[in-house]
Amino acid sequence: MSDLTVVMYHYVRPIAKSKYPSIKGLEFDLFKEQVKFIKNNYNPVTIDEVYESFYNGHKLPPHAALMTFDDAYSDHFKYAYPVLKEHGMQGCFYAPAKTIVEKEVLDVNKIHFILASCDNVSELISNTKVLFDLFRDGHEVKEFEEYFSELAVANRFDTKEVIFIKRLLQVALPEEMRKNICRALFNTHVETTEEEFCDELYMSQEQLSQMASDGMHIGSHGYNHYWWNKLDSETLNNEIDKSIAFLKAIGAHTENWTACYPYGSSSQEVTDILRGKGCKLAFTTAVDVAKTDVNDPLLIPRLDTNDLPKEATAKTNQWFR
Ligand SMILES: [Zn+2]
Repeated sequence: MSDLTVVMYHYVRPIAKSKYPSIKGLEFDLFKEQVKFIKNNYNPVTIDEVYESFYNGHKLPPHAALMTFDDAYSDHFKYAYPVLKEHGMQGCFYAPAKTIVEKEVLDVNKIHFILASCDNVSELISNTKVLFDLFRDGHEVKEFEEYFSELAVANRFDTKEVIFIKRLLQVALPEEMRKNICRALFNTHVETTEEEFCDELYMSQEQLSQMASDGMHIGSHGYNHYWWNKLDSETLNNEIDKSIAFLKAIGAHTENWTACYPYGSSSQEVTDILRGKGCKLAFTTAVDVAKTDVNDPLLIPRLDTNDLPKEATAKTNQWFR
């Protein structure tokens, strides 16, 4: 039996000194510390070793760890990649292809930066209500207050108001309405144009290609960053095919390819489609240490960076297996 700790990262940047000091992410200095902590206590492994363990029963070293980075932020190229190189570690990077091919900021990222640009979340909720009323024509939607009572439930990272904004604008409303509201809020609250912002936020195709040819692993995170378990099978097939074409275009491996479910959106049907298309490993957002002889290789749980200590010399915690 092999235990595998997969760590998930999103934003990794010098946050305190940045234009968006309240963005939820990992401070770069703490990333460097955490990488040292992992090197001190775990054995970093590559995606090929993980594949061999799931499919051919190869044993992983004790306390094996794999580093994964979601959403193709330029942070990953600028900050994470050089540190991984320095420590001889491989990172697995999951890029929503559309951001790079079409230079469009994902709504989910617009929401993060709208929240980071607003000091007053109640004011943001009132603005959202105004836009909700403005864009609701022609859509079958409930009353704004009903959404609030359904969706405003705090989780381990966010207050109920923040969760409400995220859920309302990421998933609850019809797509066209969500897009319109996100665009309007982004234009009001974030002081930059979408194109400029896109260039700043995401890696370029060249940067991804460079990492792919330099031993880093690049996998599928879909094209549009949709919730995969909410798509009909034709749309999902199309999402996956386009993301594989993108992996080919940047020179990443498309044999034994791997995926990461956007928002952790797995389901039996999604997993079956991925398997049918030759996907070998896929990562969820379920919080756990994986067991390579027990877990489905297409449903590998991960720990969030916040689940592990961020000091090189810290003691290991309950997730150390
Ligand atoms: Zn994502």
